[in-house]
Amino acid sequence: MSPRKPPSRRPAGVTPTGGAASAPRAASALAATTPWSYAPAPESREIVSIRPRYGLFIDGRERAPIDGEVTVTYNPATEEPLAEIAKGSPADADRAIEAAERAHRKVWSRLAPRERAKYLYRISRIMQERSREFAVTETLDSGKPIRESRDVDVPLAAAHFWYYAGWADKLDYAVPGRSPESLGVVGQVIPWNFPLLMLAWKIAPALAAGNTVVLKPASTTPLTALLFADVCRQAELPDGVVNIVTGPGSTGMSILTDPRIAKVAFTGSTAVGIKIAQGIAGQGKALTLELGGKAANIVFDDAALDQAVEGVINGIFFNQGEVCCAGSRLLVQESIADEFIARLRDRMGTLRVGDPMDKNTDVGAINSRDQMEKIAELVASGVAEGADLWQPACDLPSRGWFFRPTLFTGVAQSHRIAREEIFGPVLAAITFRTIDEAIEKANNTAYGLSAGIWTEKGSRILDVAARLKAGVVWANTFNRFDPTAPFGGYKESGYGREGGVQGLHAYLRMS
Ligand code: NAP
Ligand code: MG
Repeated sequence: MSPRKPPSRRPAGVTPTGGAASAPRAASALAATTPWSYAPAPESREIVSIRPRYGLFIDGRERAPIDGEVTVTYNPATEEPLAEIAKGSPADADRAIEAAERAHRKVWSRLAPRERAKYLYRISRIMQERSREFAVTETLDSGKPIRESRDVDVPLAAAHFWYYAGWADKLDYAVPGRSPESLGVVGQVIPWNFPLLMLAWKIAPALAAGNTVVLKPASTTPLTALLFADVCRQAELPDGVVNIVTGPGSTGMSILTDPRIAKVAFTGSTAVGIKIAQGIAGQGKALTLELGGKAANIVFDDAALDQAVEGVINGIFFNQGEVCCAGSRLLVQESIADEFIARLRDRMGTLRVGDPMDKNTDVGAINSRDQMEKIAELVASGVAEGADLWQPACDLPSRGWFFRPTLFTGVAQSHRIAREEIFGPVLAAITFRTIDEAIEKANNTAYGLSAGIWTEKGSRILDVAARLKAGVVWANTFNRFDPTAPFGGYKESGYGREGGVQGLHAYLRMS
């Protein structure tokens, strides 16, 4: 094994955008890292053949956009353009909705439920068969580590189709005595942090319930949705049941506000969620919104500390922290705070940041330059407002959008880094003394998507979990997902649930 020698490295402490990470306070806070050395273990990209240009997937066929416009999707780890993507317009959205409406009326809603189930099983199986292709494509397009796309995103996406296939012919059991029916055409808009997984969360329950779909992926990560279109063709899914319209947010809005759309499902920022709720107000559409979060990961003094350190690391550095349910606020009991922070820094020093295609990588690339700038701006605000920044002295690749794992201590609840969703590898640590204080601080947020509790005491888990205003509460673990478990938020994290039987209800009309 040869020691890992990256070709070109940026000096420690300097981020591509300059920003807070290169501020004097940050540089002086840099610490020495443990001298881990790993041989490169790059995943091959040969399994994937990315075409130079992609069209829209409408009515079972690839179509050029009506006005011929395109955008480009990039590899965030190298800044290399990957492909030209059709920039769908409202006129393209109109065609897709028309195809979906026809497919619902003539085919999908009339199909025997067990036949619908067969298509979903087939889709799941093909996704499993093509899982490496999906994982490599996802990592190239989004910047997330291949280990995560391979072991989390793709298997979970396939599991969602498998799980909801099981419900397709059991809808009467999902809502006993209510004769459930499909709603019609569903409009779905998804973000860039889990592109394939969010597609699966949206499309699998919709199809199982007998609806047809028009989905818009995020502009920076359209490739796995377009690969999924190929899976639909391979599964011989009837034309028009799934339609993928790539394009800007305004095209997303024209899909969602179209009167033929019976139900809207959105995952993304709270700001856009609010616009969507306003845009469809009064139209009588069903709506589920999965928005942002600012989760508290609460570590009590009796917790198994090393396990808690792992959980906190996973909570904030999984997917570079670009996770709506990320544990971005560490609440640590004062009596163990010094020791816990010391162990956390040691562990952060061993995180490997870099090439997402390398199987050793823990923290990959930030999804876009815009997101890098947003993270850097919020980190700068943390320094300016008086919190103490610490970053491990790891090297960053010279190209691509990378951000050093960051820990803030001395954080006040009023600081922006404690209130706003950063959506990056940045953890804000706050201390507490009593259980009541922990709960009050955990709930002191406009969001309410998730939370974590670390303690050896079962009764404390039950007590605290019941008092946290968060849709998902993990105990002695974090960022665990399962198709059978509902997921969703309180307050500005949105409303409605995805996953489980609750996720199915959102796609059904009960009589
Ligand atoms: P975003 O603007 O909400 O984008 C999410 C999706 O909505 C994308 O497909 C986007 O399309 C689309 N969109 C944008 N404007 C729209 C509009 N007016 N009407 C309908 N659809 C619209 O989120 P973002 O810009 O990707 O990220 C911004 C922040 O949102 C992040 O920093 C993070 O705080 C939060 N976020 C949360 C989640 C989550 O899972 N809760 C996920 C992603 C981001 P385009 O890609 O074409 O713009
Ligand atoms: Mg991309």
